[in-house]
Amino acid sequence: MIVDRQGRRFRNLRVSLTAACNYACTYCVPDGKRLVAAQDELSGEDLARGVAYLIEAAGIERLRITGGEPLISPRLEGFLTAIAGLDLHDISLTTNGQLLSRRLPLLQAAGVRRLNVSLDTLDAAAFRSIARGGDLATVLLGMQEASAAGMRIKVNMVPMRGQNLDQVAPLLDYCLARGYELRFIELMRMGHLARDGNAFRQQLVSMPELLTLIGQHHAFEQASAAVDATALRYQIPGKGYFGVIANESVPFCRACSRLRLSSTGWLHGCLSSSNRHYIGDLLDRPRHQALPALQRLLVKALADKQELAFAGGVMVMKVIGG
Ligand code: SAM
Repeated sequence: MIVDRQGRRFRNLRVSLTAACNYACTYCVPDGKRLVAAQDELSGEDLARGVAYLIEAAGIERLRITGGEPLISPRLEGFLTAIAGLDLHDISLTTNGQLLSRRLPLLQAAGVRRLNVSLDTLDAAAFRSIARGGDLATVLLGMQEASAAGMRIKVNMVPMRGQNLDQVAPLLDYCLARGYELRFIELMRMGHLARDGNAFRQQLVSMPELLTLIGQHHAFEQASAAVDATALRYQIPGKGYFGVIANESVPFCRACSRLRLSSTGWLHGCLSSSNRHYIGDLLDRPRHQALPALQRLLVKALADKQELAFAGGVMVMKVIGG
């Protein structure tokens, strides 16, 4: 097991199936271009071999499939088939929900039971101006069908001043009424927002402000969360839970156990670091050759983690795997 001075190790792996996305969210894709994949993306089978090797070399326990938008990827089925027999405690998926209805049978058959659906607003016009793609009603229907099929749903919302702050209370009520857990993600200094501090500061809604706003609608209390959870969790008695991922206000670097594998075969130990480590060439090697080389790269990837706080990074979420 590879452990650093702070006792951190990699436990949770995020695999990006593709950098392409059918949205172009303003905070993620600055040029507004949709469906742009990275060159040289690996096959679903190669990425699955990467997962298998990382389970052995790093002690990965939980897998989250992400992107880009994983549900548009032609690699999804091959990847899900290839990871079917792996020793994982949990397989979940992050999606914008646009193709959820269509892909639900495939996800169910593969044993995916938990979904994070990104949804920043219930207002159709604001949805169009933030996501720059997709259709709100289709996402809501997809979540309803997934929930009815027994999937546990968390909704990810990035509150932004001037764009969707008026949606905090309505979206929270919508989620509470349906048993979805809403997670507010503080805007992160990624990509263009890492370069343009003013745009970042103008839009950032910090956790104290957010909690004050929620407190005007609901009484809530802190709830328990996993030791290496990135979200602070709150309970609204009798109604449900919500969470806040407070990268800026309450950094969680000290407990971070995440590792990311991009669709092109790069390992990222930290969102804040522009360091990355190529493992694509190890994936067609036999296990006894691949694992020692992988372990050397994992030591480097773990050393990339920030000591205390998220400082921001010029990499774009959809490329690393959000
Ligand atoms: N397409 C999928 C989706 O929409 O959930 C998965 C990829 S997306 C990059 C994953 C998450 O990253 C989304 O919840 C999105 O809101 C979040 N994200 C991207 N850029 C961000 C930023 N600068 N700050 C905060 N969250 C961001």
